[in-house]
Amino acid sequence: MFDRILIANRGEIARRVIRSARRMGISTIAVYSEADARARHVAEADAAYLVGPAPARESYLDIEAILDAARRGGADAVHPGYGFLSENADFAEACAAAGIVFIGPPPAAIRSMGSKSAAKALMAEAGVPLVPGYHGEDQGMATLAAAADEIGYPVLIKASAGGGGRGMRIVADQAALAAAVEGAKRESASAFGDDRLLIEKYLEAPRHIEFQIFADSHGNHVHLFERDCSVQRRYQKVIEEAPAPGMGAERRAEMGAAAVAAAAAIGYVGAGTVEFITDSSGKFYFMEMNTRLQVEHPVTEMITGQDLVEWQIRVAAGAPLPLGQGDIACRGHAFEARLYAEDPARDFLPATGRLAHLRLPDDDAHIRVDSGVVQGDEVSPHYDPMIAKLIAWDTDRDAALRRLRTALAGTEIAGVTTNAGFLAAVAAHPAFRAGGVDTGFIARHGADLLPDAAPAGDEVLALACLGVLLARAQESAAAAARSADPYSPWSRVDGWRLNGIGSDTLHFRDGAAEVEVGVVFQPAGYRLSLPGGAVEVRGELDGSGGLIADIGGARVSASVIRRDDRLTVIADRRTHELVLVDRLALAAGQEAAAGSLRAPMPGKVIAVHAAAGDAVEVGQTLMVLEAMKMEHGISAPVAGTVAAVHFAVGDMVEDGAELIALDAADDG
Ligand code: ADP
Repeated sequence: MFDRILIANRGEIARRVIRSARRMGISTIAVYSEADARARHVAEADAAYLVGPAPARESYLDIEAILDAARRGGADAVHPGYGFLSENADFAEACAAAGIVFIGPPPAAIRSMGSKSAAKALMAEAGVPLVPGYHGEDQGMATLAAAADEIGYPVLIKASAGGGGRGMRIVADQAALAAAVEGAKRESASAFGDDRLLIEKYLEAPRHIEFQIFADSHGNHVHLFERDCSVQRRYQKVIEEAPAPGMGAERRAEMGAAAVAAAAAIGYVGAGTVEFITDSSGKFYFMEMNTRLQVEHPVTEMITGQDLVEWQIRVAAGAPLPLGQGDIACRGHAFEARLYAEDPARDFLPATGRLAHLRLPDDDAHIRVDSGVVQGDEVSPHYDPMIAKLIAWDTDRDAALRRLRTALAGTEIAGVTTNAGFLAAVAAHPAFRAGGVDTGFIARHGADLLPDAAPAGDEVLALACLGVLLARAQESAAAAARSADPYSPWSRVDGWRLNGIGSDTLHFRDGAAEVEVGVVFQPAGYRLSLPGGAVEVRGELDGSGGLIADIGGARVSASVIRRDDRLTVIADRRTHELVLVDRLALAAGQEAAAGSLRAPMPGKVIAVHAAAGDAVEVGQTLMVLEAMKMEHGISAPVAGTVAAVHFAVGDMVEDGAELIALDAADDG
């Protein structure tokens, strides 16, 4: 067995491998890029080496740098995880040449599956069913057109070297073929450095069903059941499950045998996945084989109770498979949802940013969360934007799906746009609940699956107001405590005024709408004028966004997370985003408060550019304050007429003081 494994990867998969190795008594070496110096996988490994700057090409994909780290750390084996170098035969060979075991299949097996076309030719020979198609060497337009005619439209063009759905084109008829071929060639040349294409019959409403296979170096081959990965967007998996709904014993045996035959045909050793596409009649066809561990391997672990990384390590060390086919049992049902930093409303555009707030469910007997990040981490543009995988298991599909829904509902993220709401909508959709959806499910139900853009209700608005007002009160109390005269009325922001009850107005942008909430400060809270009526509220913040509120006598616990002018309100398992337009509220600890007619902080008036009766444009600077050694322009938030200017040059103003009264122009 190995003493020390280097993990040539990052994030959740690196942590996943560390976990198994540690359980086996093997020490671990992490590698990291400059961007990942403080990442979880680095902290958890027994040793860690910097392999280069943030871009993957210069770090996680740099074979020399990785091998150098392996040598320095005294690693006797390398686990590549998935992605990066995991299907790179040159890397596997370089490891062998350096006397380090590559925990994966032999380089020749990686190569035979590296080209979809070559793999199909091999599979045809091994008697594995293929989607009718053309995977020949001749890439001339005339040959491709003749092939497409013979296959029959619609056809699907794929990049032979492809992956991740790139280079794929659905072609409806002959007239569209030439342009599609040209586009696919261009895309695959730039993505994979290889412009060879193959053509397949495009199956309508297929399902993606893949088999986890394992082989050892003693000639044993098994499968560990199937995974259904039909819930896809842009040909990429979103939610996976095992076993596949509706899979009968006979069909499983047939597909499992084909998967094992595929592995045997290429002298496979280690963990692999044979992907099939199935049509509505139940026929299945080989699509491709992935010669590594898959992102979705946890669902297989959950239903079999096996640790696939441990299997990989054992097999790489020359041990036989831990179990024979007959000993591998399938128990219960498991789902995996991939939580991504991306925007489902903008065609799943990847998102980046700091995870200002991140609350993931706790692991228990039913829930497993694989994640490489913690609150405060940055989702950088350099790597895959996956935040976590939520894996749920129970004794049957309905119960497991309920667990998944609960796990998703308990997930709170602010600071980065994610697909959390989208995943929850998929998990709740009647068609998905019924089971056995095809790969067109998301495209077909797109609109139903986008998180509802319903306007914020009174409760959400009340929570947002409380979050802002309480934070402001805290800031001001802290500032007062620091100042010489903590009891000065000038350091209070509870609306105290020399003459009467303090009041204020908070403005929010909610999608395209603007909402205004009147606030009257009261001894123990606030009275809010919400769209649905007035309500008395009070509450307490816990310092990390948690808020316990009393809204008109009802107790509500929520999270209100603020990042600059963006507020994320998470309550009752729903996330709502608002923009705080109110400049006074922005003032606490914030920089310039352009547009406000109130002082953003205590300061001195150093210029006045407006007088009562002046007509002003939106954005026009009306006054300049000096505070904290900086100048702050006070500009008109709307066009209008100046009703009064309350201060003159040289006056001191307190935080939040109204500086100028402005009558908004009637925009009729
Ligand atoms: P990649 O390697 O780029 O991920 P795959 O060959 O694995 O490409 O296919 C990805 C997905 O594309 C499949 O899961 C399936 O949804 C869809 N797909 C692939 N081949 C076909 C086909 N012949 N007909 C219909 N859909 C297909």
